[in-house]
Amino acid sequence: MKNITILGSTGSIGTQTLQVIEKLKPAFNVFALTANKNADLLIEQALKHKPKLVVIVDNSKYEQVKTALPNTKVLSNKDGLIEAATAKSVDVVLTALVGFAGLAPTIAAIKHKKDIALANKETLVVAGEIITKLVKHNNVKLLPVDSEHSAIFQCLEDGNEIEKIYLTASGGPFRGKQKVDLKGVTRAQALKHPNWSMGAKITIDSATMMNKGLEVIEAKWLFNLNNEQIDVIVHPQSIIHSIVQFADGSMKAQMGLPDMKLPIQYALTHPTRIQNNFERFNFLNYTNLTFEQPDKSTFKSLQLAYDAMKKCGNAPCILNAANEIAVAAFLNDKIKFLQIAEVVENCLEKVNFINAPSLEDLFATDEETRTFAQSLV
Ligand code: NAD
Ligand code: MG
Repeated sequence: MKNITILGSTGSIGTQTLQVIEKLKPAFNVFALTANKNADLLIEQALKHKPKLVVIVDNSKYEQVKTALPNTKVLSNKDGLIEAATAKSVDVVLTALVGFAGLAPTIAAIKHKKDIALANKETLVVAGEIITKLVKHNNVKLLPVDSEHSAIFQCLEDGNEIEKIYLTASGGPFRGKQKVDLKGVTRAQALKHPNWSMGAKITIDSATMMNKGLEVIEAKWLFNLNNEQIDVIVHPQSIIHSIVQFADGSMKAQMGLPDMKLPIQYALTHPTRIQNNFERFNFLNYTNLTFEQPDKSTFKSLQLAYDAMKKCGNAPCILNAANEIAVAAFLNDKIKFLQIAEVVENCLEKVNFINAPSLEDLFATDEETRTFAQSLV
């Protein structure tokens, strides 16, 4: 039996992970659940799954959670996340929290020799080099949950060397649009993803295509690739989840319906495949699988992510922090859709560049970028 901590259990990935785990019991036991503010759902989940530890980061919700769960250990603040990620009996930590907030608990978990099922891509974007070194040093597993990376991971099981990979992108709700069409798009339009139902931040990242940019950087670190080995292809049906090309030109793709429960389950049960009742793919419902070149000029965020990856150092950290602030500002109707990429570009130009940042440098870069980005929105 494996004890699991789910960081961000009340979100899109977190709730789906609990659905998956319910079917995997008794092989998995929920040790800790954490949420930022959603006390009601956290309490409901805790009553059902009976974890040893519950963390509500938002301190003002602590009393509510503690009162509802008198027999459970309840913590708040960021320290609570660290405790949930590092407690002695935890075997695997699934990181389903969003943004830079995932970095500290993920590092703490790795240092305490926990395997990581990684949904929180921002962690690898910001500190890929540091994280992958720590993973190696502590001899833990870093298992991808992101569907594209799970696809690549599943294609690599014979151990052959990668020539290149193609990450597939749906293109989001604005695929095929030009800049003029995107000037006045609303929050509601941007939140309407054609194929996936996800949290607000990643849904906006999909609309700007920053999500694919973050995934390119995530893939670089997960699979130890050169920048030139990672390509993006738009595939609007989201059936092929990504593709590996090998030295002889042969390609392997992993496909299936767009449902995160599958990559979540695989990250938890790897290297075994476990029978489940998820809906099966029917070819006759998808007689056309199509492919297009991504438009990196209209969707500038994707280009900016490639640029930050090439520049390396703290540039991906700047990219991520600026994007988090810009997306939050767009969601609060403070800036327009096209300004998201402008804020990111501005930060990449102005924030102090560091060539070989330490972890402390990355925390400082994150702060500095957030302050500067905030002044732009
Ligand atoms: P979400 O917004 O639905 O959920 C986020 C969870 O994290 C919630 O439980 C929330 O309480 C918690 N949280 C938010 N901010 C926090 C903070 N500052 N400190 C602690 N906890 C915090 O997000 P999501 O869509 O589930 O995405 C989670 C992560 O998984 C993201 O990194 C995203 O890029 C990645 N991901 C998501 C999907 C998807 O289908 N949703 C697919 C691939 C990758
Ligand atoms: Mg993805």
